[in-house]
Amino acid sequence: MQAGKDARAAGGHLAAGENAGPPGAPAGEMTPHDPGTEWDYAPAPESRDIVTLEPEYGLFLNGEFVPATGGQVFATVNPATEEPLAQVAEAGAADVDRGVAAARAAYEQVWGPMPGAERAKYLYRIARILQERSREFAVLESLDNGKPIKESRDVDVPLAAAHFFYHAGWADKLEHAGLGPSPRPVGVAGQVIPWNFPLLMAAWKLAPALAAGNTCVLKPAETTPLTALLLAEVCQQAGLPPGVVNVLTGAGETGAALVAHPGVDKVAFTGSTEVGKQIRRMVAGTGKRLTLELGGKAANVVFDDAPVEAAVEGIVNGIFFNQGHVCCAGSRLLVQESVADAVVERLRDRLGTLRLGDPLDKNTDIGAINSRQQLDKIRELSDAGEAEGAERWSTVFTGVSQSHRIAREEIFGPVLSVLTFRTPEEAVAKANNTPYGLSAGVWTDKGSRILWLAQRLRAGVVWANTYNRFDPASPFGGYRESGFGREGGRHGLAAYLDG
Ligand code: NDP
Repeated sequence: MQAGKDARAAGGHLAAGENAGPPGAPAGEMTPHDPGTEWDYAPAPESRDIVTLEPEYGLFLNGEFVPATGGQVFATVNPATEEPLAQVAEAGAADVDRGVAAARAAYEQVWGPMPGAERAKYLYRIARILQERSREFAVLESLDNGKPIKESRDVDVPLAAAHFFYHAGWADKLEHAGLGPSPRPVGVAGQVIPWNFPLLMAAWKLAPALAAGNTCVLKPAETTPLTALLLAEVCQQAGLPPGVVNVLTGAGETGAALVAHPGVDKVAFTGSTEVGKQIRRMVAGTGKRLTLELGGKAANVVFDDAPVEAAVEGIVNGIFFNQGHVCCAGSRLLVQESVADAVVERLRDRLGTLRLGDPLDKNTDIGAINSRQQLDKIRELSDAGEAEGAERWSTVFTGVSQSHRIAREEIFGPVLSVLTFRTPEEAVAKANNTPYGLSAGVWTDKGSRILWLAQRLRAGVVWANTYNRFDPASPFGGYRESGFGREGGRHGLAAYLDG
């Protein structure tokens, strides 16, 4: 991997390429790409000017930005440079009370009784404003999260807008969704989201809930609150009635207070399996509805008849997209033994061309790890991989066995474990040898083999000859330790409706 000079000089959380290089190369030395063909990209930085950063951000409560009751704030930083970006209000229990009360009043007086066709107009408006302000959202997302601008610009923001457009279309057609003749909203939704796709996860949570007639209290992740607050501003701009969407920034305690609040009818959580289990215990016996979208350890299965170039692109996309901070990342490569050497060699060549650097540079493929804490976790697990005997090349491990920690635990970073198999049956057994069940990928020329595998892989999503493809019409979610419930599509609406 090549390192962008700007970001390395800035000394941020750039981990992926730190040890990039052939085995034995000193840490910090980058892979020398073929010197005959090597050439440098000129920097292509996206301007920050489109974003106006406020020194301090309030909570979005009942249609207004207000300070936290106790006046507490926390800092959010740019993970690429560790530069503080802003102070953000930290919601306490009293603010959670206020948020839930505002959502309840809006649900009973305005949003619940409103005809679906009217609700749809607001959702369309939000979607259009997201498109109009897409550059602003993309720059802010990359600043606060560290993801490359080309991903925030081409994936996160367009998909977020698409979610609002898609669900706007459902708002006046809910009785045709196959969920009963006149499905009713559930009430007040308490929604807690992680830092890996801050805007997109907000859209996944808010759009279906609002389309179905619920009101929302959203808790963004502590390290990435800014785009959720900009989305709150868009709600204001769209004229959304006060209280329909409330955004309470804060840390885990804020999330816990929201989940535990008796005024919440439905809890929707995306994040770690560990916290998901805590939430399940908190919600048990309360009668609240619950959906959990948790971790994963997906197998990306490559057969000997797969087109190698396409499969390698899929492997790279599977594990390096968003620095590997993806619950459905293809973090276990299962490759058929007869082609393993050829695939790994081609993969190494391809990795040598990836550009690691300033997230705001349009040429950057791999940006910053989201936080110091996450970087430490990635390092700990990578070190464990070496200690357990796997062979390391950059952040790719070969000779991995199923019992290794790097093959079992979710790393949530750009670290790939390569395992081999001989027969389709062995591929299925190894792919399913995980407590998770979120996603999987299959690469083969044979349609019949894809169908055979898709029936046997225990994963909520199986991609065939592609990876990390998302569409608002397609339900997403897992089972076992990856959680339950679906987001997106007709199935995603079910979580927010009583049939
Ligand atoms: P968490 O599960 O801790 O965080 C997810 C969200 O839940 C955040 O908004 C967090 O707030 C909030 N939260 C934390 N504790 C509680 C609680 N007790 N009750 C209610 N809400 C709570 O994930 P982390 O950010 O700590 O990441 C840890 C690991 O989780 C990662 O390394 C990764 O493996 C995995 N992960 C998986 C994700 C997925 O999409 N499946 C997404 C994110 C992480 P705050 O941010 O302030 O702590």
